[in-house]
Amino acid sequence: MANAPGPFTVNHRCIDCGTCWQFDPQHFAPTGSRSQVIRQPEGAVESRQALLALQACPVAAIGTTAELRQQTPIDGFPALVTRHAAGDVYYCGWASRRSFGASSWLVVRPEGNVLIDSPRWSAPLARRISALGGLQTMVLTHRDDVADHQRWAKAFGCSRWIHQADADAAPGAEHQVSGLTAVALDGPMQLIPCPGHTAGSMAVLLGESRQVLFSGDHLWWRPAQAVVVASERYCWWDFQEQLRSVERLQELDVAWLLPGHGHAHSFAPGEWRSALGQTLVFNRRSPCC
Ligand code: SF4
Repeated sequence: MANAPGPFTVNHRCIDCGTCWQFDPQHFAPTGSRSQVIRQPEGAVESRQALLALQACPVAAIGTTAELRQQTPIDGFPALVTRHAAGDVYYCGWASRRSFGASSWLVVRPEGNVLIDSPRWSAPLARRISALGGLQTMVLTHRDDVADHQRWAKAFGCSRWIHQADADAAPGAEHQVSGLTAVALDGPMQLIPCPGHTAGSMAVLLGESRQVLFSGDHLWWRPAQAVVVASERYCWWDFQEQLRSVERLQELDVAWLLPGHGHAHSFAPGEWRSALGQTLVFNRRSPCC
């Protein structure tokens, strides 16, 4: 399908990672094999959002005029998602091709800032993170989303966590989680093993109530059907084990689901448990997505 006529375009380099249409659904949408511009931005606010989507694209597949490109904000990322009692949560943009455009997240908190999964290395992003207090810790949710972790760790002197079963993907990581035992970091933050998508998949839980769950590729939100997805198609290790990992998360009180791939979503009180129940029923009856 063709891009809507105007200055922004998506070209053949698109790898269909979803970064642009998750971040700026007003102007970008999937077509099945690659994304397209569905509507051109109007006015400064909309242009800024489309320019940030351009900046976030991992393969430079979004084009625009030189004049508009000069207006790309240098301080657009990280972009604030929500303020939680346990820390402010930001989306980092600057997606990496090496993690197929996965989202990475920054938590700014009094105990020390935490980067969840690695964005592409970016000096402007590093300067903004420095201004927000730097990085104390990096958590790699699983082997696919490690991208430029060494460069970020070296720049900030932060220590890295990964699960033992995926540790060969980040051999320099300073800390390993093992088995199914959750690990508490300082402050209200836990690393929860969720094996399935990969053997060493983990989720990161922020807060004691109305929590934020960073799910890696374990779970994501699909707005068209209003469901939490656990995907067999994109499961690289053991889907039945993945469903058991989903079951163990039902008792949480999640207010925000922030995945590596797929849409983020906020849940009203009580919705999380029923949403995961629906996910389990659907996948045990007819796994297909
Ligand atoms: S961010 Fe880039 S690669 Fe990803 S879907 Fe959009 S245009 Fe394609």
